Amino acid sequence: MYNDKLAKKVCGCGGTMTIHMHTLIYSAKIKITHVPVYTCDVCARYEPLPYIKKDLVSFLEELNASSARGKHVSFAERNEWACVLKETMAAGMFPGGVMELEEAIQISVQGRIDLLLDLYRVAAEMDDHSWMEETERRLSQLTIHTPENANHGEKRKIEG
Ligand SMILES: [Zn+2]
Repeated sequence: MYNDKLAKKVCGCGGTMTIHMHTLIYSAKIKITHVPVYTCDVCARYEPLPYIKKDLVSFLEELNASSARGKHVSFAERNEWACVLKETMAAGMFPGGVMELEEAIQISVQGRIDLLLDLYRVAAEMDDHSWMEETERRLSQLTIHTPENANHGEKRKIEG
């Protein structure tokens, strides 16, 4: 499972950055809700969660290409991390603080991976290839992107 701490990290200024769901205004026209970011409580700097960066960039490119205006979109509808984190954070107030949030996130992510693996098995039994591909795509979003597999998007091997 994830050994990295997901709920917080240390900022360059020495402050503590904690995870939040952020609303991005893109090109002053498109409102993108449910973008997981780390926000520093000292210098107010924020940055997207590393696991979503690549998908966020392609999402912005797609929005740019579609020349959408005045739209309101949710990143949670296309990204598994955003979806899991949105649900986790909506679920409670976390009186135990960041430690409790961390635990809740880890449990939610593992639960989502288990669910997707079950769905994949069902899709495979039904021999439903488009469903298998969709489930595989969602699963791959939840796996950590290392430099070695960072450009698998274009060179991904199609099985079967
Ligand atoms: Zn800072």
